[in-house]
Amino acid sequence: MDYLLTEEQQMIKDLCHQIAEEQIKPVAPHYDQTGEFPWDVVKVLADSDIFGVAIPEEHGGMGGGVLEMALVTEQLSWGCGGIALAFGATGLGTFPILLFGNEEQKARTLPDIAAGRKLAAFALTEADAGSDAGGIKTTATKDGNHYVLNGTKQWITNGGEAEIYTVVALSDKSKGARGASTFIVEKGTPGLTFGKKEDKMGIRGSATREVIFEDCRVHKDNLLGREGMGFIIAMKTFDHARPGVAAQAVGIAQRALDEAVHYARVRKQFGHPISSFQGLQFILADMAIKVEAARALIYSAARMIDGGVKNIAKDSAICKTYASDTAMQVTTDAVQVFGGYGYMREYPVEKLMRDAKITQIYEGSNEIQRNVIAAALIKESIAKYGD
Ligand SMILES: Cc1cc2nc3c(=O)[nH]c(=O)nc-3n(C[C@H](O)[C@H](O)[C@H](O)COP(=O)(O)OP(=O)(O)OC[C@H]3O[C@@H](n4cnc5c(N)ncnc54)[C@H](O)[C@@H]3O)c2cc1C
Repeated sequence: MDYLLTEEQQMIKDLCHQIAEEQIKPVAPHYDQTGEFPWDVVKVLADSDIFGVAIPEEHGGMGGGVLEMALVTEQLSWGCGGIALAFGATGLGTFPILLFGNEEQKARTLPDIAAGRKLAAFALTEADAGSDAGGIKTTATKDGNHYVLNGTKQWITNGGEAEIYTVVALSDKSKGARGASTFIVEKGTPGLTFGKKEDKMGIRGSATREVIFEDCRVHKDNLLGREGMGFIIAMKTFDHARPGVAAQAVGIAQRALDEAVHYARVRKQFGHPISSFQGLQFILADMAIKVEAARALIYSAARMIDGGVKNIAKDSAICKTYASDTAMQVTTDAVQVFGGYGYMREYPVEKLMRDAKITQIYEGSNEIQRNVIAAALIKESIAKYGD
């Protein structure tokens, strides 16, 4: 399908596919096995100015938007869904600054992110606050010109590797969710340390780690927006970032489809390539239909967001949910097409299945996405028909 990308968007897509093919695909099994952080690939991306695609030109970026980020994430994830997250999670951690940062905060942080000198991360989740993010306990107590942060964030992507953290904490416990604020906290700030690094099922080339604040003093210049805006910033961040998770899912799914078609052409049974059997052709065709439909949804949602449409929560959730459910189905189908070989680590598709699973869980599980979609449907219905 031709998505009528601009010349620059096509160039970004082609460049990222080339990086995925030549620099990520060959090293993906190593990072999957070891769980090391892929700094060599991060350097390649930095040298190619990829981290700056969605950062304004005045701050050293290319001035693109959510669509450009999705194009990058999709192609890099075709190479490896885990390695691609060094870019994807930097985008997630940068959105609060892009959307709510003042000029000084942007000038201080964005050029380093655009150049790939500093990775970013977004820290919201805690041990007892996942889907129910309003249950966070990390506090930010005002002390003169500073806030003092205390608490532990869990499962933070790029945790320990990133230099810039956008952190949601309670600046006023008595107000619950309305008492949350978002801060920029830089690595090296006294009181910021990193805890347990997780050993995961998939996306093993991505670092997932605890981020710990113990009397961590952050100057008030690092407060994003105003006090009490923490959850608004978090929700807007997710609305902008979810097409990125969807793009990660589609990149993984496209790779599964490519691998399955190729394998079906070369694997012979009953004296014929298995691709000649209609039962298998239907599986491949259904995989392709779902992947293309997911891609079309993502690009539409991304274009809506970049075009300045205000109510994006539902469409962002729709593309994230559909693309991640598709990735899980399509990668599982790819394992089926490979038969017993698909179950073996030696072949590429079991990793795709493991990598796909997370896209249904993070940045709001797909159950939570369905809550968001249903809430928007009900609101739209009330607006149209009344109570
Ligand atoms: C690898 C990885 C990376 C991550 N990266 C980050 C990161 O960078 N930054 C960050 O802040 N967080 C991150 N997270 C956290 C992630 O966003 C949460 O795991 C996710 O929001 C779900 O929360 P939970 O795991 O606590 O599940 P829970 O909230 O405990 O949910 C458990 C199950 O219950 C379902 N459920 C919960 N509430 C409802 C409901 N109201 N209706 C229906 N079903 C419901 C869920 O869908 C899920 O199936 C990461 C997580 C992982 C695993």
